[in-house]
Amino acid sequence: MYEELNTAMSRDESISMLKKEVHELAVKDLRPISLQLDKMHPQEVCEKGSPYYEAHKKIKQMGLHRMYTRKEYGGLESTPEEIHVVLEEVSWASMGFGGGLGVDMCCMAIITLTNDILGGSVSEMVDDIVTPWLEDDEGKYHGCIPWVEPEHGSDIIGACHLPDELIVGYGLRAPVRMDEEGDFWVLNGMKAPWTTSGPTATHGAVIVNAPPHESIADATLAFVPFELEGVRKGPALEKLGMRDEPQGEIIFDNVKVPKEYVIVIPGLWKSLGGTILALLNAGMGALYTGLGRAAFEEALKYAKERVQGGRPLIEHDTMKMRLAEMFMKVEACRSYSRAAVSYSHEKVFKETEMDFPHGICFACKAFCTQQAFEVASEAVQIHGGYGITKDSVVEKLFRDARMGLIMDGCNRVLTLTAGWNLQEAYSLE
Ligand SMILES: Cc1cc2nc3c(=O)[nH]c(=O)nc-3n(C[C@H](O)[C@H](O)[C@H](O)COP(=O)(O)OP(=O)(O)OC[C@H]3O[C@@H](n4cnc5c(N)ncnc54)[C@H](O)[C@@H]3O)c2cc1C
Repeated sequence: MYEELNTAMSRDESISMLKKEVHELAVKDLRPISLQLDKMHPQEVCEKGSPYYEAHKKIKQMGLHRMYTRKEYGGLESTPEEIHVVLEEVSWASMGFGGGLGVDMCCMAIITLTNDILGGSVSEMVDDIVTPWLEDDEGKYHGCIPWVEPEHGSDIIGACHLPDELIVGYGLRAPVRMDEEGDFWVLNGMKAPWTTSGPTATHGAVIVNAPPHESIADATLAFVPFELEGVRKGPALEKLGMRDEPQGEIIFDNVKVPKEYVIVIPGLWKSLGGTILALLNAGMGALYTGLGRAAFEEALKYAKERVQGGRPLIEHDTMKMRLAEMFMKVEACRSYSRAAVSYSHEKVFKETEMDFPHGICFACKAFCTQQAFEVASEAVQIHGGYGITKDSVVEKLFRDARMGLIMDGCNRVLTLTAGWNLQEAYSLE
């Protein structure tokens, strides 16, 4: 286990205990299941009886999914420090499970946050959806966030902070859309196959284009239970990394969603979307700190075992330097992402302020995923030929690290979006 540089955290017994408990879960259950799933066909991962469900059940049994929800709703209302510890430990074991936990929690955070902002006006969703999900310790429910569409990826991500004229110029006229019909909103269209946990999810917080369907500015959110008639799922995606957490498209074919499950507020995506993305991106920084640390630890272990030139690798000076450089990157990720998780958490959940500089969190995600990718790549290099074999853990970590440069927004697009946001928000006074 790493040396805790934050002495307030190392002195806090409940944080130390939490770290120990989640790390034990990570070592004993999550890492072994993750390695097993990585070698399976994506469709097999989703099938009934797959060890995938056992991993998510363990996460739910420990109550980790309740971290972001306020006590008033029945959640744990964990501190940002606790949240960071959990995200880092889970993704130390498996970036897939970390991502799966993230999207599952995100669905519910959207509902409770909206309920807080709108003074209790989506309380039916809280009772019908949030409460059973919070009480679930068998892994019965799992959420996803089908946002990106086959024709619109970065458009949707970037739209949160681009000026209005550019957003309209993007021409997002016909993504997944909905139209009013009696007591329902009727959804039609298809979400991209990149939706994390799509094939296994029981529900989704879907970004959907509301009338007048002119641009992304009309995007809003519908909460869709996937047992509704007309919801179909594409096959689980065959992909490079994060094979332990399936992805796949969700298709809506005249799906009648009850009006109580739809939040129709013009410009919602531009305001709430940016905030949710900021929370997600700060969390991504924490997740990729865990992955980077896992890669560093594998490299350190191997460098102590592998003998070359008559000595263990670690006794060669250049190897000490390479490991120290990896260590610096992991510590920098932990430090930045803890700050971003804490800052965004305070703003959103304590101060109910949505309009903080989201760019701080977008930049955090771009930074941490890039560092984790470099650390994972160096870990493969330190393992030499063994590092490219399926028997090594670093081979998987490297593939999982590559996903992070695209997930939750391509890093260049996030950096550009951060630039737009920060040029307005950064005070030189
Ligand atoms: C592991 C993983 C998990 C994901 N999970 C989810 C999920 O749960 N839900 C969901 O909705 N989506 C999810 N995604 C989708 C993800 O958000 C998108 O893949 C991402 O936003 C990029 O969109 P795209 O793939 O359409 O690429 P594009 O937007 O088509 O981008 C292609 C390339 O063009 C560049 N580019 C794009 N726009 C511009 C521009 N204006 N100027 C210059 N260059 C540009 C990009 O940097 C990129 O290199 C996931 C993706 C991954 C990899």
